[in-house]
Amino acid sequence: MRTKIVAGNWKMNKNLQETEALLSELSAMLPDSNAEIIVAPTFVNLQAAINSLQSSTMKVAAQNMHFAESGAYTGEISADMLLSLGVDIVILGHSERRAYFGEDDALLAKKVKTAVEKGLKTIFCFGEELEDRKSENHFSVVESQLKNALFDLDASAWKSIILAYEPVWAIGTGETASPEQAQEMHAFIRKTIADAYNASVADDVSILYGGSVKPNNAAEIFSKPDVDGGLIGGASLVASDFVAIIEAI
Ligand code: 13P
Repeated sequence: MRTKIVAGNWKMNKNLQETEALLSELSAMLPDSNAEIIVAPTFVNLQAAINSLQSSTMKVAAQNMHFAESGAYTGEISADMLLSLGVDIVILGHSERRAYFGEDDALLAKKVKTAVEKGLKTIFCFGEELEDRKSENHFSVVESQLKNALFDLDASAWKSIILAYEPVWAIGTGETASPEQAQEMHAFIRKTIADAYNASVADDVSILYGGSVKPNNAAEIFSKPDVDGGLIGGASLVASDFVAIIEAI
């Protein structure tokens, strides 16, 4: 049985006071749900988030992490630093990290390896750009992103991997993949994993959809059999919207 997950990626939004305010609003409104609910505030507010959510079922994730154990990497954050706060989930490979910070599959493979070794769960993001879809290369792009960053992992490591398919053309644009496009790609992803590993690894991995998920489209997207939840950007910054999306799962 796969876990259903709704995760909010807050990106570079919300200062300390705003983080605490949003978390207390969310805690007060959070519906009962079988799904795992995750929020990913910015690094500097992770400690505050952990403190605010001590008696909540909501979990806290980081938005990035360095692959090295420690050392001369000015401005970077290690796995141990996150774990020492009580943060054991990390988002890796977000398209904004790839596009604006030069993160490529080879670097991401190192980061995922470190996360697995250190015992962090990874929400691994990937997805094609608009040109890839227009030229009908979207399946091969997605396949190579998975292969290059993840397929060196042992089958047992996949217990700590959550996938987030985020077509770049749907992020922050208000344009979503249709539920059918999401299902088609998620089924392809699962088959690609089954071929590389086995059916049980493929059946057990949660595959989230991300890209302009909103209260008015979440239920339809989440109704698809291979869509196990969502990674939410903009709508996760508004408590009532995020709660409505959680209610849709
Ligand atoms: P939006 O929901 O704002 O499109 O962002 C999606 C995303 O990038 C989540 O990681």
